[in-house]
Amino acid sequence: MPEETSATPARAMGHNQDGRSVVRRSPPATSSSTPLTTPLQPAVAWRSIDADALDAQYEGRSPGYTYAREGHPNATVLGDKIDWMEGVTPQMGRGVVTGSGMAAVGAVFLGLLKQGDHIVAGDQLYGRSLRLMRQDLPRMGVETSFVDPTDGAAIAAAVRPETRMIVLEVVSNPTLRVADMEAAAEIARAKGLLLVVDNTFTTPRGFSPFAHGANVVVHSVTKLLAGHSDATLGWVAADTPERNRALYDAATTWGLTASPFDCWLAERGLHTFDLRYDRASATAAALADALGECAAVAQVLYPGRADHPDHARAAGLLRGRYANMVSFRLRGGRETANRFLRAASHIPFAPTLGDVGTTLSHPASSSHRGLTPEGRAALGIDEGFIRVSVGVEETAMLVGEIVAAARQSVS
Ligand SMILES: *Cc1c(COP(=O)(O)O)cnc(C)c1O
Repeated sequence: MPEETSATPARAMGHNQDGRSVVRRSPPATSSSTPLTTPLQPAVAWRSIDADALDAQYEGRSPGYTYAREGHPNATVLGDKIDWMEGVTPQMGRGVVTGSGMAAVGAVFLGLLKQGDHIVAGDQLYGRSLRLMRQDLPRMGVETSFVDPTDGAAIAAAVRPETRMIVLEVVSNPTLRVADMEAAAEIARAKGLLLVVDNTFTTPRGFSPFAHGANVVVHSVTKLLAGHSDATLGWVAADTPERNRALYDAATTWGLTASPFDCWLAERGLHTFDLRYDRASATAAALADALGECAAVAQVLYPGRADHPDHARAAGLLRGRYANMVSFRLRGGRETANRFLRAASHIPFAPTLGDVGTTLSHPASSSHRGLTPEGRAALGIDEGFIRVSVGVEETAMLVGEIVAAARQSVS
């Protein structure tokens, strides 16, 4: 093969006068030092020296990449960091970065379940997770029983001979109830079930599922970990190399894997994750207390407050950081909620959470619009119910704006 030199003139169509391809060349080495930041590598395919070298890679005798769906450097860098944050040790294997949080949830079911299996799941999980279990898994022969996750006896009573896993979120959306993780771990251990924990709301800084008996941990990296509402990603890991292999194979085969650019953005976001989370949690606590004093507010839901129904459990599980989500009920209905959202005009009304900035959501018209009013009432969600995802803004300013908007909404 003729040698390509960096002096070869590159033409638009990729061939010089001698007919040599000039499109696919390694760039010349231009620096004897290395970049401070992680390079973004969007390559889909990787060149190998020869067939033996490719064999060595596929057989795990030499490291490296072949095709981006199977793995790429930006996913490795991001995955290693989240593995470390969640306490995934080399003995356990490694987690998998997926193209969204739902892709991570999907990989759990596709990789670890088979036809005829049964799931016991919390009845207030993320809406799409509920839909997946209610509408899609039954088509594949997998049934789910939904239980109140704060009630250990209810979890135990739902277990059947064919039950394979328990699926929980530590803190539920939007009523912020705290699951009985100890009971769930004990039931899973005693019955040989997989305990699957979606740790998106609580984050590795608030809760360590693997240290509390989880076998599989899931994240929507889209939310607090990436933290800037500009990357859609997920992550999933299990407690054994075999299970991690099954998750990796499911993600790769069903095409659930992640884009390099999103991984690159998320890694950049992770640099400030601890700072963002601690600031947002502290502000959320201050906001909850201020709303608790506000006459326009009928009820505040924050696990860090003594009046929260699961406060004692939250105090035991969450290391004194009760996360960045605060919910409250205004004294009034849809019109009151509309007035509040318009009055809080500097705070986006947007159906997401975990952004660097604060966002507001109204579950009755967004995440929980699919339920009947009675179904919402059973969860304690009415038209005056507002959920706040607290960001990193200056605490006094943010609390002041939200409390002022609450006062205006009822006057
Ligand atoms: C957002 C979210 C998901 C889904 O994540 P995407 O990245 O939006 O696919 C799953 N679980 C929880 C708790 C979430 O908040």
